[in-house]
Amino acid sequence: MFTIDDLKARAQAPKVVVGNADFTLMLDSNAVVEEVIIGLSAYFGEDNERQAIRLIVQGKEIGYLTRTGLYEFIELAERGIGDADNALLPGRPAYRLIELHCPFQGCESRMLVTSVDNLPACPVHAGVRMEISP
Ligand SMILES: [Zn+2]
Repeated sequence: MFTIDDLKARAQAPKVVVGNADFTLMLDSNAVVEEVIIGLSAYFGEDNERQAIRLIVQGKEIGYLTRTGLYEFIELAERGIGDADNALLPGRPAYRLIELHCPFQGCESRMLVTSVDNLPACPVHAGVRMEISP
């Protein structure tokens, strides 16, 4: 079992990240980390240009999770003893993170969340609530 703290520990300071990070991953304390990892695997799998994603946990900016950092999680999970039932299989993610966009015309804020119970505001346009992308 991974925890949000494991994710936080692997997040890097923005300055060490090379490559684009268009999306922000917003997690709250209820996030199921195994599902998040599967969802991130899908996110990185969809586009090879995606090298990192910005991580915000409970409103606090943590840093960036990189594609390489995520693969380390998947490898660790595969080596775990007795975890076969919840194996994280790269390539065929069954769980997807929910994609949000800012409704403000021309705004490029994009987020991934695990739940739509409490949609966050756009980090650029304070007070404008993010919307679920089709
Ligand atoms: Zn915006």
